[in-house]
Amino acid sequence: MRFRTLNELAELSVREGKPIYRLMLEDQAMESGRTAEREWDKMKQYYGIMKEAVRKGAAAEGGSRSGLTGGDAKRTLDYARRPDSSLALDAGKAMAYALAVSEVNASMGRIVATPTAGSCGVIPGVFVSSQERFGWSDDDMVGGLFCAGAIGYVIANNSFISGAEGGCQAEIGSAIGMAAGALTELKGGSPAQVVHAVGLALKNTLGLICDPVAGLVEIPCIVRNGFGAVNALAAADMALAGVRSVIPSDEVIQVMLEVGGAMPDIHRETAQGGLAQTPTGRRLAEQLAAGTRTSGDRKDGENDGE
Ligand code: SF4
Repeated sequence: MRFRTLNELAELSVREGKPIYRLMLEDQAMESGRTAEREWDKMKQYYGIMKEAVRKGAAAEGGSRSGLTGGDAKRTLDYARRPDSSLALDAGKAMAYALAVSEVNASMGRIVATPTAGSCGVIPGVFVSSQERFGWSDDDMVGGLFCAGAIGYVIANNSFISGAEGGCQAEIGSAIGMAAGALTELKGGSPAQVVHAVGLALKNTLGLICDPVAGLVEIPCIVRNGFGAVNALAAADMALAGVRSVIPSDEVIQVMLEVGGAMPDIHRETAQGGLAQTPTGRRLAEQLAAGTRTSGDRKDGENDGE
């Protein structure tokens, strides 16, 4: 790749007069030895998988295999359609779609890890809802995915993108940064605005721990994807409005590295701390281990499935 940092990426974009997605496409084709057309087609297939996961998850009423979660995407989407929804339909859809894809993941369905399976809902939530709203083509969205990929590449090479290494800030946080930056470019933002969107987004999740109940990518992972999609919309809007990440985004990525490195092991996907070790988290894990909990155990209004 011809860039190592977000700053270098933005400079290259300006110097070459090309959007970030185009640079990423060219560099990825160069690295893989495949043609740009082939890379594009592959990404288009991935986008098709994302859309299918949104469709499937948003309609699903059933639960995950563990019985811990399920049906929240549909609930959220139904609520978003009400006139008194606080987020209103557009942001509500982004949230619901993100939940949908995460629920598909929890039920062992097909998703695209963006950047990981745990954070697979944020980008499709933002992308599919924005496509519906703004009438963008699939090819527009594929370009957006390359832009998101460039941002993910920089984060992965300078910090972390997995909860086991850097906590949930590295998974959900990175996904939010990728979605926010890509949405900013899709909406005509400058390379500098794309970079600011990433920094604004990442700052908001610094320190977020990884604490999955029973070690399953369900609680709190699924709802964090829903919140993540809304945060990405907010970060893109802020950047496009002219809000800057005063601490440069590359420096924020370094802080993520510092914070992740300082995080105790109990907060890095081991399920030994945080929400996983609350009395309820432990009880759920024990029930699952003993095989005494099934999907039928989760009732409407029960709050341990989030
Ligand atoms: S809590 Fe851990 S497993 Fe769940 S999404 Fe966050 S990083 Fe991934």
